[in-house]
Amino acid sequence: MLGIMKCSVLATVITFASFLSMEIVLGIPLDCANLKNDVVPNIISRQNWHARQPVERELLEVTPTPYVVIHHGGEPKYCYDEKTCSAIVRQYQNFHIDDRHWFDIGYSFVIGEDGNVYEGRGWDYVGAHAPGYNTQSIGICIIGDFSSKCFIVQSILKVRIECCGSYNVTKHSSSSSQSTMMEKLITVLLMLASCQVFGDVLEDHNIPVRPNIISRSNWGARAPKSQLQNLAVNPPPYVVIHHSATDGCTTQAICQARVRSFQNYHMDEKNWTDIGYNFVVGEDGNVYEGRGWDKHGAHSKPYNSKSIGICIIGNFVDHNPNTAAINATQDLIAYGTTIGKIKEQYTLLGHSQTAATSCPGKSLYKLIQTWPGWSSI
Ligand SMILES: [Zn+2]
Repeated sequence: MLGIMKCSVLATVITFASFLSMEIVLGIPLDCANLKNDVVPNIISRQNWHARQPVERELLEVTPTPYVVIHHGGEPKYCYDEKTCSAIVRQYQNFHIDDRHWFDIGYSFVIGEDGNVYEGRGWDYVGAHAPGYNTQSIGICIIGDFSSKCFIVQSILKVRIECCGSYNVTKHSSSSSQSTMMEKLITVLLMLASCQVFGDVLEDHNIPVRPNIISRSNWGARAPKSQLQNLAVNPPPYVVIHHSATDGCTTQAICQARVRSFQNYHMDEKNWTDIGYNFVVGEDGNVYEGRGWDKHGAHSKPYNSKSIGICIIGNFVDHNPNTAAINATQDLIAYGTTIGKIKEQYTLLGHSQTAATSCPGKSLYKLIQTWPGWSSI
């Protein structure tokens, strides 16, 4: 059966994994005893593929992790030797750090069609690859775009696993050099999955879009009056939605002028350290960085130390924000959970739930009650 798979690595992994999820094992032993003496994949260390230092790292709280999430690179770049694969892994890392503003390459490991496994965040650290699962999974990305080239693929396959051993992987021994790429990959999966694989879990994962975040310098923010305090609880378990109760805006020029006026009002009239919100969203579809992630806000006592406060520009008493603003807000929240800046099981609130106020406006308040995470507390 394995012989008919012509669609290279991902198909192998996916097919293999999906067979596993159906508990068909293809004659490959799944018990630990067999694994331990079996082929060990060749893991190329970060040093060897010339990784950049991570910006920050967060230890996984639960190891071994109960999930493995399989990804593909999603772009038609392929590699069949260590040099080329290393270069692609570096591109992934650059993209994740520089464009997505993640701490590091998002994946725990990356696999090339050269048969090597490239160490990403590795076994012990939280990844950024699958919202809702980052703190409880190992994320493996296969270099290449296998969305149309292969069958089954939905870009991500989630395999529920239960582990019975440690995940220590040693450097490959010479005995592994003759193993085929497929065997190596299967071994990787097996090592990850360790003993028992169960569950028929094959579902789509929507990786959130990173919204377009306009930095403080780009909207012309003033410096805070003094250093901002960090959140007391981070990642924060709450997201609080506000409206500005002003006119809306549909262009960046006007939206950022509004954001500057909010900042002036908060700093000069209210005498706060800085603009009160962590982020502001415009109907131009942009997100404007306020105090940003990690920072104690000034928007909804007594939640300022444990929430991200998001203000949508406009007055939403009798109408809703436009689709661009709604999408940007929802993307921002989902993105925040992906990068570990909002607790994955967060509670969404309207400002009026935390204080006697009409904010975020009747209409918007009704709308957010349909969004993920909203709770009547
Ligand atoms: Zn408010």
